[in-house]
Amino acid sequence: VLEMEISGAKLMNGYLATFIDVTKRNTAQRELNRIAMMDNLTKLPNRMYIESLRDRFLAKLKRDQGFGAYMVIDLDHFKQLNDLYGHFAGDHLLVLMGTLLDEACRSQDCAVRWGGEEFVWLLPNADLTTTLQRAEQLRCRFTAENFSWYGEQISATFSAGCSCGRLDAEGSLSSKQQLLLLLQQADDALYQAKQQGRNRVMAG
Ligand code: GH3
Ligand code: MG
Ligand code: MG
Repeated sequence: VLEMEISGAKLMNGYLATFIDVTKRNTAQRELNRIAMMDNLTKLPNRMYIESLRDRFLAKLKRDQGFGAYMVIDLDHFKQLNDLYGHFAGDHLLVLMGTLLDEACRSQDCAVRWGGEEFVWLLPNADLTTTLQRAEQLRCRFTAENFSWYGEQISATFSAGCSCGRLDAEGSLSSKQQLLLLLQQADDALYQAKQQGRNRVMAG
């Protein structure tokens, strides 16, 4: 890829044009963007990626006039697990969660590591019943995974909150505000799941 720059001042016999090969610079920029939006531990995209995707997600929901679902997942008693078995055992669980979540995603879905031991799963065109079923399947799979850590069998659980909505183009709230409400509902449902004893999926 060549970038051309023409000098502003007229030289004796015309203008000076400089060509710079920016192929390497563009490749490096793409690589930097990729690294910035990826979580290095789980290899899932990170929160920055979902924020960059939000407008496309909203546009898709509007185009399809369909439902969109949102799921917040938080590992249970993760601090305690770290304290008992060490940080590396915790890391191992985060990687496992990332793998299972990635496997559970359909092509139009997007799952990210939100931060710490929290994950977010966006499901365009999914209704609440389906979303709850899929969360429940993932929860069972995760809980059934035992791993041996220096002779000890470890298994862990998570709690999840789900919300679902149809974007209303006529309503008084902007699409962005509607999506924020959806996130808030999922967060509230997660809080309820924790309050009611963890290791469960709730709808908001
Ligand atoms: P709750 O069931 O209420 O969610 O309790 P919790 O212990 O899971 O939640 P809390 O927010 O108290 O603790 C989260 C812990 O996650 C604390 C932090 O050390 C740990 N953590 C965050 N990021 C990582 C990481 O990358 N690796 C490991 N091993 N631990 C992490
Ligand atoms: Mg948390
Ligand atoms: Mg937690």
